[in-house]
Amino acid sequence: MSGMTDAQEHQTDVIHNAAYEAIEKVLEPFGIDPEWSMEWIGELSDSIADIAKRYFGLTEMQVYPYIDDEDDPGPAEPTTRYFWDCDCEKNYIHSRIQEYCPACQSISCDHPNSTVSEVIKFLAAGE
Ligand SMILES: [Zn+2]
Repeated sequence: MSGMTDAQEHQTDVIHNAAYEAIEKVLEPFGIDPEWSMEWIGELSDSIADIAKRYFGLTEMQVYPYIDDEDDPGPAEPTTRYFWDCDCEKNYIHSRIQEYCPACQSISCDHPNSTVSEVIKFLAAGE
């Protein structure tokens, strides 16, 4: 899932095809027929987007709205093994000392570690 609109997907195809055709033309005199590879097509598309940005006042999102969210999920939020999340909508942070949640009957060992940021909020609220 890329999360792009149809227009963005179309624009991404346009720039990828332009990048491919440019290299195809450059390699033609050498008798090389380049195989489609996102490794160099992506790199050249980035360069094209950069030029469109610097010389023609466009933004990267306009020229190359390629959102690579599969390869780059971003930094994971840190978690702590001393706390866990139960299935409740609210007040779902529990210390691992507490083996189950009386409200939703969740059991500590079946549930994931809590994120540090939520634990800090939970502790600050003093619940
Ligand atoms: Zn619960």
